[in-house]
Amino acid sequence: MKKKQRIETTCVQGGYHPGNGEPRQVPIIQSTTFKYNSSADMGKLFDLEASGYFYTRLQNPTNDYVAAKICELEGGTAAMLTSSGQAANFYAVFNIANCGDHVVSLSAIYGGTFNLFSVTMKKMGIDFTFLSPDCTDEELEAAFRPNTKAVFGETIANPALRVLDIERFAKAAHKHGVPLIVDNTFATPVNCRPIEWGADIVTHSTTKYMDGHGAGVGGCIVDSGKFDWTKYPEKFPGLCTPDESYHGVVYTERFGLGGAFITKATAQLMRDFGSIQSPQNAYLLNLGLESLHVRMARHCENGQAVAEFLAGDDRISFVTYCGLPGDRDHALAEKYLPNGSCGVVSFGIKGGRAAAEKFMGNLKLAAIETHVADARTCCLHPASATHRQMSDAELVAAGVSPDLVRFSCGLENKEDLIDDIKQALDAI
Ligand SMILES: *Cc1c(COP(=O)(O)O)cnc(C)c1O
Repeated sequence: MKKKQRIETTCVQGGYHPGNGEPRQVPIIQSTTFKYNSSADMGKLFDLEASGYFYTRLQNPTNDYVAAKICELEGGTAAMLTSSGQAANFYAVFNIANCGDHVVSLSAIYGGTFNLFSVTMKKMGIDFTFLSPDCTDEELEAAFRPNTKAVFGETIANPALRVLDIERFAKAAHKHGVPLIVDNTFATPVNCRPIEWGADIVTHSTTKYMDGHGAGVGGCIVDSGKFDWTKYPEKFPGLCTPDESYHGVVYTERFGLGGAFITKATAQLMRDFGSIQSPQNAYLLNLGLESLHVRMARHCENGQAVAEFLAGDDRISFVTYCGLPGDRDHALAEKYLPNGSCGVVSFGIKGGRAAAEKFMGNLKLAAIETHVADARTCCLHPASATHRQMSDAELVAAGVSPDLVRFSCGLENKEDLIDDIKQALDAI
């Protein structure tokens, strides 16, 4: 039944398979705890000898149904939900990198992730080397150190909209005996499945397209089960040597390559940090997933139409959208994103910061928000919001021009979005 099932069907029906007389919709198990007949039964759970639920800080059935759907969509072997995308990326890296370790990351990544890596995880003793997507092979090679534990990138970077050459970075990671972790938030598995191109771990901010309605913050981690930790036991002792906090269990031995990474992240990181997604939010996330394939097609159609309109308007100084033939990442998009990328377009307005601010104020349909990937079109002018403290020169150095507008096309009629942009440009 699961064999050869197409992605649209998995969006609707994956993960939860009710039995005779059971609820059709994913049940919300709104319970912190679970009852057992004997202490011995519960003891087996604590020793990881039996699988089951005992406390929702670690695991909850509603979350696991929804994680199983995302796991199927990405083609992985195990998955877990987290309370946010930030928690997902933190867990994915911290599960294999400890104090004294090093990680190679693309520099074109989400600002929150960049801060997590360069400030907070650095304080924990983990060092990061940031590489441009345009780095040479020599620069890529030179970034690795004996204590490197992973390579990290985003399929479509937020907000730079650069497309990751997944095969290239997977090959480099594997050559150095470490996994490639890919944040697939903007593409979603509907448009790209990084595991098929060599990625080992996939993460998501489900807050974006997966939820799709601005309803709940959440994250997810999917393991491909393909990375052989046991080939490098000295690099990954947490997965390949006994965990004394669970009576000496060795994750790779007990749970195999398919289950070791997610079981360790649940048993250790979820236990100790508790960044669990609420079952209510997991339920809402699943409603979003049921229409993800339908919505992504419309987000992309609208993104393409808006990008093409902007590219043809001489009041616009530049447009970044990998679906445009002139875009610097168009060839990568044709390879990795043949059915479309996402609905986010960034562009500049001639006249600089002042013109961009006026344009934003003139918009009627598109709302000014610190959000993307929503059913409702939203936009942000980084120079007057997220990057407000920077001078024009500092903005340019950070790759954010003062006139840059990040425009996230929703699910409205594309002609209405273009009309809104036209009238906002006319009124500058
Ligand atoms: C938003 C975002 C995150 C962070 O996710 P939250 O759910 O807001 O914590 C991580 N990665 C990417 C690519 C994002 O767009």
